[in-house]
Amino acid sequence: MGDVRMSDDCIFCSIVAGDIPARVVAETDDALAFLDANPMARGHTLVVPKGHHQRVADLSREESRAVFDLVHDLAPAIEDAVNADAHTIGVNDGPDAGQEVPHAHVHIIPRFERDGGGPIHVAAGERPEVDDDELDEIAASIGES
Ligand code: AMP
Ligand code: ZN
Repeated sequence: MGDVRMSDDCIFCSIVAGDIPARVVAETDDALAFLDANPMARGHTLVVPKGHHQRVADLSREESRAVFDLVHDLAPAIEDAVNADAHTIGVNDGPDAGQEVPHAHVHIIPRFERDGGGPIHVAAGERPEVDDDELDEIAASIGES
């Protein structure tokens, strides 16, 4: 692990430092995975970079790879452990998307047939009306930035 940024008043930095307890399920040089303390489903796991960064885009490429590699590796293990049928995997990336802990984290939420939940689409609120021209413009401006 290189020069890791920490925030004194961040709960996930305290977990990474071992200052507060967590049910750690996996650890690599740059990422840590632990059970969510207030789970949406049995097996609900959070994967965090060890460094303190709020947004996904703030992560170094190395940390980003470490986090998403751990998500990739853990998903089947979680599914097996709790006998899940599927997962919802997502990030509340910024306060306006519902992020409460300002240390980037990926939620792995096991899903079960007829668990009463919905697809990730429900997180975004009402679907806007977007015509083909606007889709073209948006695609072009993302490509330019
Ligand atoms: P978010 O709204 O995406 O920021 O989600 C934060 C998540 O962190 C919530 O699902 C909380 O249940 C979880 N959480 C908060 N504090 C802890 C903690 N000390 N240990 C494990 N999970 C936590
Ligand atoms: Zn932090």
